[in-house]
Amino acid sequence: MRLHTKATVQVNNEDRGAILTVDLGAIAKNYETLRSKVGESECAAVVKANAYGLGVEQIAPVLWQAGCRVFFVATFEEGAQLRHLIPEAAEIAVLNGLVPNAIQDYNKANLVPVLNDLAEIENLSAIAKRTERNQTAMIHCDTGMNRLGLDAKSVNIISENPKKLAGIDICGVMSHLACAEEQHHPYNAMQQNRFKNALSLLPASRASLANSSGVFLGSHYHFDMVRPGIALYGVNPTPGQLNPMREAVSIKARALQIRNIDSSQTVGYGATHRFSSPRIIATISIGYADGLPHSLSNNGHVAIKDKSVPIIGRVSMDTCSIDISSLPSDSFKVGDTVTIVGQTRPLESLAQEANTIPYEILTRLGPRLGHIYLPRQ
Ligand SMILES: *Cc1c(COP(=O)(O)O)cnc(C)c1O
Repeated sequence: MRLHTKATVQVNNEDRGAILTVDLGAIAKNYETLRSKVGESECAAVVKANAYGLGVEQIAPVLWQAGCRVFFVATFEEGAQLRHLIPEAAEIAVLNGLVPNAIQDYNKANLVPVLNDLAEIENLSAIAKRTERNQTAMIHCDTGMNRLGLDAKSVNIISENPKKLAGIDICGVMSHLACAEEQHHPYNAMQQNRFKNALSLLPASRASLANSSGVFLGSHYHFDMVRPGIALYGVNPTPGQLNPMREAVSIKARALQIRNIDSSQTVGYGATHRFSSPRIIATISIGYADGLPHSLSNNGHVAIKDKSVPIIGRVSMDTCSIDISSLPSDSFKVGDTVTIVGQTRPLESLAQEANTIPYEILTRLGPRLGHIYLPRQ
């Protein structure tokens, strides 16, 4: 059997059927915008899940260059990968906490676990004692999310038994807002109060509460450090208001075929879309394997220049169909591109049509997409 060498089977990014373009300059600008918004507070960056699906390898160094010094990831593996991408001086915190038996690896990669319950605290304290080496960690207090973090009772236990923290150098106390996107949601003030209470019971340390939307709730939500993620990547952290961030993501797909439909035919799996008049449809090279949600079947829109055109029939694995009958004839040809996400087609609108959130669309983008990174100017 003869195998082709790798080089002979590469297609240029620009020539792929579907292309993700990430504007690194816009991401750097967004970091600067968020940092200036929080004044004296530190602005960290959340780059979990491969920088929200966009490429941590390209994005983390740009954030470092823009002045970011604290990075949050979800897992140990993400932290270990990130450590190779940015200087040793960068702090990397692991939100999902400690992996039992991996503390040596945390130390080797200089990763800071975020401790989410009493058991983790006891575990790390015991390790510090055994190895006669203090361990650095952050502590996460739950204030209403009920996802991760010490509950109020556990915070009280720590407060009454400070020895439980023996051997642990606490470099941060954090909590997470559940409803920051809704500016007037009563949870915001409630969580802020609960957070202040937790801070008063724990050793003094850098306090951090706000995610992207939290940054826009006002300075009394900023504390010592904020932890934006999605806003860095250009998604509007203030739904319903003008987007203060710069768009950083575009997704385009090429037309593979254009078909004239002249009778009562159907399109796609399940024959779910039936035509009642002659139409012109295009098959474009993006499907659910590339991250285009199947829930957009018969239900979503894409843009051609500044015109919105509907997705018809079911989204397939590698393609979907769009109805281009409303375009001037011959204005759109095989090989031309359609905007799935971009200036004429906000990610937020696409997510809404797909009955999901921008976060999910970004983190599910498929590996087949061509990736183009526009450099920071
Ligand atoms: C993901 C995450 C963030 C970032 O949230 P965005 O809404 O993307 O800004 C901040 N803090 C914690 C604990 C997170 O899990």
